[in-house]
Amino acid sequence: MKSLFNLKFDNTYSQLPGEFYQKIEPTSFENPHLVAFNDEVAELIGLDPVFADKSEFLDYFSGKKKMPGSNPIAMYYTGHQFGVYNKDIGDGRAILLGEVMNSKDEKWDLHLKGAGRTRYARQFDGRTVMRSCIREFLCSETMFHLGMPTTRTLCIIGSDENVHRESPEKGAMLLRVAESHVRFGSFEGFYYSEDYENVKVLADYLINYHFCEIEDANNKYFELFKEIVVRTGELIALWQAYGFTHGVMNTDNMSVLGLTLDYGPFGFVEKFDPEFTPNHSDYHGRYSLRNQKPIGYWNLQKLGKCFSELINDNEYHEALSYYAISYKKKYHGIMRMKLGLQNQHEDDWHLIEVILECLFKSGVDYTNFFRILAEFNEDKVRNNKVISDMFKGTDFGRWAQYYAGRLNKETNYRNERKKLMYSVNPKYVLRNYIAQICIEKALSGDYSEITRVHKMLKNPFIDQPECDEYSRPLPHAYKDRYVSCSS
Ligand code: AMP
Ligand code: MG
Repeated sequence: MKSLFNLKFDNTYSQLPGEFYQKIEPTSFENPHLVAFNDEVAELIGLDPVFADKSEFLDYFSGKKKMPGSNPIAMYYTGHQFGVYNKDIGDGRAILLGEVMNSKDEKWDLHLKGAGRTRYARQFDGRTVMRSCIREFLCSETMFHLGMPTTRTLCIIGSDENVHRESPEKGAMLLRVAESHVRFGSFEGFYYSEDYENVKVLADYLINYHFCEIEDANNKYFELFKEIVVRTGELIALWQAYGFTHGVMNTDNMSVLGLTLDYGPFGFVEKFDPEFTPNHSDYHGRYSLRNQKPIGYWNLQKLGKCFSELINDNEYHEALSYYAISYKKKYHGIMRMKLGLQNQHEDDWHLIEVILECLFKSGVDYTNFFRILAEFNEDKVRNNKVISDMFKGTDFGRWAQYYAGRLNKETNYRNERKKLMYSVNPKYVLRNYIAQICIEKALSGDYSEITRVHKMLKNPFIDQPECDEYSRPLPHAYKDRYVSCSS
């Protein structure tokens, strides 16, 4: 049997120069207990899930005991927050316990969020509230099972200790797992303090451990930046296709591996609206659904600037030009599948634009529309009652005619198409009110809903009649529930 104590550590980041981190151990909290645990992620890091029930597990993952072989650090980074550079950030309340190797020799960061103050904590308390841990756990797992690159969650550890936000709240810690936690802001910290040597050290580190396929390239720094550009374009295309709005796309929350990182005031759009902005403090909608694509580019420009000693101006612009290309290829590819189209036609983009316009005007639920669309019958356009009822007062009738004509150019059978559509159009996503229900139950001591919802979200494309209520848009009773972004 694999043992927790046999977790194989290989702490590469803590071997970098001292400017990259602060060596620091977590500050434990009172009466730690297990709130949620993820078997799949345990498997990923080579941890036998039976250890979840052992007291040592709680000791290790609530910072009470140091794991043999671990070498905890808080990572240094800075970043542009809402367009303004902030040099005073970094892991203020999260600690990288160490990196573990699994049996396939894959390396995973174990990152404990809410683990106490570090050098980068400024005036903050180093803690995280239970509410935000539950949201991150459920959403990161949703994203993974929808097929989007993301950090994962091993567990949430609860505590009796209160954390002070707008009012006292239950605190918790979350163990985040990812191939790397290096952010755009990790480069910015060195670049803006004119430490170009460490910009290069970081680029070399990434190439060595995460982009080894470009090690021998003629211009590996150009290739590295280009690869980050491509991955970011693809990631944001996926977010758009699933209506996921991150909420705080500051450069310190942008992963160089193209992972969805840092789950704060995110949201899946329900009534389709390009202006959807789940972060209530984002008054100007800087990080609205519509703005994610241009902001992704803006963030990459900021990252590219940090490479200015490593690549020339032409290379900077050339690498950035891959953003629109990778975005478009991914977005159109997935939207075509969502519409059940296997072949590629030049004016498919129009089909997508018009349906988004109809969705906006009609206020139809974005996720459910595509799910229902699998039932569309191109031979009985006028009889697609379920669908046309949803679109009263819009151009849907014309769109449906156009769509039917387009489907007739496809070579696959209706059944095949239906299968394809069900495999990319989820029945379940983490709607904010679902997270809210889990949070409210958890705060009264009942963690069972987290487990139930987690199980549902592991199979977002499969009908689960016992969870049918969660495929519905926001119920009226939850309309005015404010989801604060403080965490
Ligand atoms: P976030 O909004 O979670 O991306 O955090 C932005 C920055 O603020 C990061 O440097 C965090 O480490 C820091 N931060 C946020 N909340 C806290 C907290 N409660 N204690 C210490 N640092 C924090
Ligand atoms: Mg952050």
